[in-house]
Amino acid sequence: MRITVLGTSASAPTTERGLPAVLLEYLGEGFLFDVGEGTQRQFMRFGRSFMRVTNIFISHYHGDHVFGLPGLLSTMALYGRSRPVHVWAPERQVVYVERFLRSLVPNLPFPVEFHPAAPGELFSTGDYSVRAYSLDHTVDTLAYVFEESPRIKADKEKLRKYGLHGPVVGKLKAGECVEWNGRRICPEDVVYSVPGRKIVYVADTRPVLSDLARNANVLIHEATFMHSDHDLAVEKKHSTVAEAAHVAAELNVGRLILYHFSPRIKDLSAVVEEAEKYFTPVVAAEDGYTLEI
Ligand SMILES: [Zn+2]
Ligand SMILES: [Zn+2]
Repeated sequence: MRITVLGTSASAPTTERGLPAVLLEYLGEGFLFDVGEGTQRQFMRFGRSFMRVTNIFISHYHGDHVFGLPGLLSTMALYGRSRPVHVWAPERQVVYVERFLRSLVPNLPFPVEFHPAAPGELFSTGDYSVRAYSLDHTVDTLAYVFEESPRIKADKEKLRKYGLHGPVVGKLKAGECVEWNGRRICPEDVVYSVPGRKIVYVADTRPVLSDLARNANVLIHEATFMHSDHDLAVEKKHSTVAEAAHVAAELNVGRLILYHFSPRIKDLSAVVEEAEKYFTPVVAAEDGYTLEI
């Protein structure tokens, strides 16, 4: 599982920072959270493949989070894409996202499926699920929770104890009891479940504590302003660095990645210093920041 923060600026790009987009790569697929203007170039800069992107999750319909969508999808077409792309956005906004895209690039040669996203589960496969919860911004905004399914593992010590091997181990992992050397062995005797990894993406918002984000391995959280601009954060419905760190501590996450910095923030060491008063480990992401977990 690899996370790449492709863009880290809020509202407008700077010479150093692109607009918000976070890529999660898992099992050969790309999951893209927001797609700020210039995202396609950030993929190229940091050596990531946008052709592998299967799902795009838009947090909310503000320009800095969506302006990159038509450019990215039209370049996919240029590169010969045929595989569908799924685009998720808050349910009251998805129609605007779709119109915006279709008006600029009406004839894409691959299917683009738009899905209304509401709090709760969006979809799941055997390998992972994606859920959403409501944030607190000036328009409907969603956080997205990507969670790997629990993995069933066999306890090697116990397999040895019972002399188990071969296809019966697969049956036990699949939840069946088996007869083995004259005794009945059930899954609870030899297998156990390991919780999957959980990544939470939080875009523009005042601080929100959701149980869905609790104990995440990684929380990616906006931090538009320093604490010294707290009034501005309240007025514009964003979070300060200190507030984001406080959310990470309250939710007991494993690590915190801060991004979505106002161009007013010039010094990332000050960001880390402010955040570390409340939570560690924390990273103030530069464009291209990568984490493998
Ligand atoms: Zn924003
Ligand atoms: Zn916004």
